[in-house]
Amino acid sequence: AVYVKDARKSFGDKEVLRDVSLQIGRGEVVSLIGPSGAGKSTMLRCLALLDTFDSGELAYGNVRVCANEPGSEKTTYDKAAMRQARMRFGIVFQNYNLFPHYTVLKNVMDAPIVVQRRDPKEVEEQARTLLEQLDIADHADKVPDQLSGGQQQRVAIARALCMNPQVIFFDEATSALDPKLTQDMHRLIRRLAKDGMAVGIVTHEMGFAREVSDRIAFLFDGQIVEEGTPEEVLVHPTDERTKRFLANAE
Ligand code: ATP
Ligand code: MG
Repeated sequence: AVYVKDARKSFGDKEVLRDVSLQIGRGEVVSLIGPSGAGKSTMLRCLALLDTFDSGELAYGNVRVCANEPGSEKTTYDKAAMRQARMRFGIVFQNYNLFPHYTVLKNVMDAPIVVQRRDPKEVEEQARTLLEQLDIADHADKVPDQLSGGQQQRVAIARALCMNPQVIFFDEATSALDPKLTQDMHRLIRRLAKDGMAVGIVTHEMGFAREVSDRIAFLFDGQIVEEGTPEEVLVHPTDERTKRFLANAE
């Protein structure tokens, strides 16, 4: 599970995240939606430890990554906790971020061996199983350039899953996918959740968010202004800002 409390973040004097609190529990799928510039990617980057919150608390399970010292407005990151947390989450980026000069198999095997220091034989076995499950085993020896967008995405998913994460994040999981692959993504995400993973999604696609999520948080100008079931947030929103956003999103 991932737990965020009162997270704040500014770029210069622009406040991009303002007291954001969010939890994704075991087996739960939570989507973050909101207008362009609301702070969704910034939030995801901070959750993935590619950037840092200025203030607030972040924990992965019982590993507390950062918290404000008593009486302080600033958060302090714990290096050892960051290392531990990195073993607990995986992230699938919008542009997939695959290593272009590595084969598909090597892309999937790299982090478990380098970051988690696991036995290469055992990692290869798991990597091949994942490629099999994601229907890209035939492409194991190709480099990313030789694959379609949807295939590259599945490599990125296999790479994230090969870390055996407790939490997985998707940035715009379906934006490059056709209806069939979007349906496959839906099924895959629900299966991961059923297996006990916590799943966090940033998406522009309301239809997908509605179908796949247990909970949706609407981020507006750095604040979560509304949060609830897909039904509550997308069908019966109460906040004017959510209503306006949804009216324009159709
Ligand atoms: P989109 O839906 O367009 O992807 P978003 O919700 O992901 O939008 P962010 O990328 O998180 O929005 O950006 C939030 C705000 O922070 C924007 O005003 C953006 O210009 C600003 N911002 C993001 N990254 C930086 C940065 N590295 N330096 C300065 N400002 C930044
Ligand atoms: Mg973004």
